[in-house]
Amino acid sequence: MKALELQGLEVAYGAVRALKGVSLEVYPGEVVTLLGANGAGKSTTLRAISGLVRPRAGSISFMGEPLTRLSPVQIVRRGIAHCPEGRRVFAGLSVHENLLLGASGRRDRGIGEDIQRMFGLFPILLERRNQAAGTLSGGEQQMLALARALMSRPKLLLLDEPSLGLAPLVVRSIFGTLKALKAAGTTILLVEQNVNLALELADRAYVLRTGQVALEGQAKELQGDERVARAYLGGA
Ligand code: ATP
Repeated sequence: MKALELQGLEVAYGAVRALKGVSLEVYPGEVVTLLGANGAGKSTTLRAISGLVRPRAGSISFMGEPLTRLSPVQIVRRGIAHCPEGRRVFAGLSVHENLLLGASGRRDRGIGEDIQRMFGLFPILLERRNQAAGTLSGGEQQMLALARALMSRPKLLLLDEPSLGLAPLVVRSIFGTLKALKAAGTTILLVEQNVNLALELADRAYVLRTGQVALEGQAKELQGDERVARAYLGGA
C-alpha cells in the first residue's frame, strides 16, 4: 500500500496558483525528496498534506484513506508530523518541555524512553535539556524541532529544509541523523535546497517547477542529471 498519495493537487493563495495539479506518491519506508527553485511550491505541498492550507482541487490520501477533509490536529493523530521551515520551537519552554509537547497526542508509557532515545540521537540536547529553547543555537533548534517531531512517533515525517541556514558541520550531523532514521524504516518526505545532499539520502525525487512536477525519478539516477539543474533555471 502507498503511504501517501497526492493526485492532481491544486492550491491557490488568492490569485497566486501555488500548485497546479501535483501528483506524487511515497511508499512505506521510503525517503522521497521534493526539489525545486524558490517559490516552486514545495512548502505548499507539505502544508497541504498537514491540512494547513486547503486544496482547491485534487486529493491526498494517507494509508489508503483521504486526508483532504481532516483538520491539522486530526492529521497529526493519523501519524503525520510536520517539521516546518525555520525551526519553530517554543522559545520560552525548555528543551525537555518541547520534547514532551511533541508527545502530547500520545497516551502510551514509552514517552520517557523516547526522550532518552532523542538524547541519544542528539547528545547536545541532553546537555541543554533544562535550557530555554530560544537560547539554543540555530543548529540546536533545528535538532530540537526534528526531535520534537519524532516524539509523536510519526508514520510519516514531513521535513521542510532541515539544512537551511546551518553551518556545514551541523548540516552533516542532521543528515547523519536522517540517514539513521531512514535505516530504521522511517517514511520521510523531505524538502531540501541542497540538491546533492537530498539526492544522496533519498530513494526517489520529484522536481517541482512553478507548481508542477517537472521531473521525477530514482535519486541515484538524478544525481548529476543536468535536467535537475535546468529545472531550477526554469528550462526543464
Ligand atoms: P521556498 O524554497 O522559497 O520556500 P517553495 O518551493 O517552498 O519555495 P512555496 O513557499 O510553496 O514555495 O510557495 C509557492 C508560491 O506560493 C510562491 O509563488 C509563493 O510566493 C506563494 N505563496 C506561498 N505562501 C503564500 C501566502 N501565504 N500567500 C500568498 N502567496 C503565497
